[in-house]
Amino acid sequence: MFDLIKLTEKTYYFDIPTKIGVYKLDDKNAMLIDSGINAKTASRVLKILDSKGLQVAFIVNTHSHTDHAGGNRFICEQTGCKAYAPEVEDMLIEYSDVEATLVYGGFPCRDFRKKFMNTESSKTYPLKDAPLPQGMEIFPLHGHTAHMIGVKTPDDVYFIADAVNGKNTLDKAKICYVYDIDTQFETLEKLKELDGKLCVPAHTDPTENVEYLAKINIENLLEIRKDILSIIKESPKTTEEITAQLCKKYELKEDFMGLVMVTSTVRSHLVSLRHKGLLDWFIEDYIHYWKIAEENI
Ligand SMILES: [Zn+2]
Repeated sequence: MFDLIKLTEKTYYFDIPTKIGVYKLDDKNAMLIDSGINAKTASRVLKILDSKGLQVAFIVNTHSHTDHAGGNRFICEQTGCKAYAPEVEDMLIEYSDVEATLVYGGFPCRDFRKKFMNTESSKTYPLKDAPLPQGMEIFPLHGHTAHMIGVKTPDDVYFIADAVNGKNTLDKAKICYVYDIDTQFETLEKLKELDGKLCVPAHTDPTENVEYLAKINIENLLEIRKDILSIIKESPKTTEEITAQLCKKYELKEDFMGLVMVTSTVRSHLVSLRHKGLLDWFIEDYIHYWKIAEENI
């Protein structure tokens, strides 16, 4: 736990639940790809880097989620470095309450803000201004969030953040958070082209077989989609009813935080199916129901 793993001459990662990428810019300076979940994690990162004679030159955040940007504030305050993030994600890191609002769908209650979206707001700069070394490339991985990005190091390692989940996570969590289902499908198809390259997803082991991960993630989304359609085929249902049936079928843990995240993702699935013309909705007695679109009955 908390090992700094060497992948190539200049590229490393911290082997923790949300991986942090490290690219050595020279003998004394490194850039970080993401910053960990909180100040405690960030403090351990700085200590380990310090023991190797390295200091943080700057941070690139792949996206705004707490476990990826929660260490920004501590690292920036301790080292004086800057953190850079893609558009919209930079705003969400800086105004972290908005992130919780985005998922919850209204002013988020205290538990949700504190325990789940606990990123300490910190100043974040536009990614276009980051002093990236020559040969480093940023590529879009939109879907999991609106503007998530991946980072390709000059020595050909691809940090792909939360674009894919590992098999264990998919089996256990089943409905993993996705903001935009259709864009996520596109991202997963594009990731297949990186097969053979060394890819580092944030929550599962590095792999040179990203095609496999992309495939099982696509299958997961298609299975959820199929199950949603079969639930609604029985009779029109509300978002909450559909979510409850899915949770029961997948035997998910019954807790508030999990339910908020899952409901948000189910809502994204429902909207995607409506945009495809497979679902429609109606309102009766001020209750919003989903039904199979006429032409698909
Ligand atoms: Zn994430």
